[in-house]
Amino acid sequence: MPLKELNVNVPYIIRVGRGTLSETPSLISEMMGERRSTLILGSSSVWPEVEWLSSELRAAGFGVRVAKVRAASPEEVSRLVGEGRGSSLVIGIGGGRNLDVAKAVAHELGAKLASIPTTTSTDAMATPFAILWEDGRSKAVRGATPLLLVADLDLIWRAPDKLQFSGFGDYLAKVTALPDLELAYMLGKEENFSPVAVSMAYQFTDILVEVADGIPARDEEVWKLYVLLLALDGMLMSMCNTTRIAAGSEHLFAYALEEVSGRKLLHGETVGLGAALLAPLHGIDREYVLDALDRASLPTSFVDLGVSRDEVVTALTIAHKMRNWYTVLGEGISREAAERLVEGLA
Ligand SMILES: [Zn+2]
Repeated sequence: MPLKELNVNVPYIIRVGRGTLSETPSLISEMMGERRSTLILGSSSVWPEVEWLSSELRAAGFGVRVAKVRAASPEEVSRLVGEGRGSSLVIGIGGGRNLDVAKAVAHELGAKLASIPTTTSTDAMATPFAILWEDGRSKAVRGATPLLLVADLDLIWRAPDKLQFSGFGDYLAKVTALPDLELAYMLGKEENFSPVAVSMAYQFTDILVEVADGIPARDEEVWKLYVLLLALDGMLMSMCNTTRIAAGSEHLFAYALEEVSGRKLLHGETVGLGAALLAPLHGIDREYVLDALDRASLPTSFVDLGVSRDEVVTALTIAHKMRNWYTVLGEGISREAAERLVEGLA
């Protein structure tokens, strides 16, 4: 068997803690040396921080351009690439949508990337893919891996609770995504696989589940771990050469549920609950998943998400068509099987 090359993309510097934003200008100065032109991409909600950072960097001799991210779409990426021509660094400040755009813009410009997340609603902060939206459907495009990741808990804790906690649901998706990936690999339906990355991902998930209560309790040590693990998803994906180490049948189900309900659901909440829904197909105790969701203050029933039982059942029957991924859903499941699976959750 030919040896595949091993790639590990991981941020060079990760700073997680309270007040870490204040260290950003000096970290960037060190990282960039003499190459001092930057494009800062942010949203209205963090505009005071964008202005503070730009004035600090100008004082340090940087040429700074700033732009507001209006949408996570391919057109918006092209517009911002135009604005950022010649920049050697892109800094993204904001929620998942902003960071996705910043990753794509940095990749297209061939610039370095610094990522400053203001929410922890998904693992988007340091994954090498950017989710862009076109005609109501999402697609993943290549994005830069941030060289610098600054997660300031004082900034993140200002976000609505849901946007802080739902990243736990996105992480918990591994409970089903990992056995899905193993199943696909064992059956010869997926080539990209790394036993080391998979075993790390299992351990990381166990560790985070154990301390889930500390997330709504704002336990600082738990939060450092939580943000670090979200940030390391990009590393796991690069080692495995697939996002499937963090996304399996529960993600397929979530995409299907958005399509069926015609609503934009909170990603982490939906995939977390999707993992509880699909766990029994892998022989995993559903209570283990529900208990973890509950301790992290995430929804434990589809009623909480505001979707009907019928929508959940229909989504289950079409989920396998959402991506070209082989999962435990195989070639699809019947309506009867879906009804049985939904029992107790909707
Ligand atoms: Zn996800």
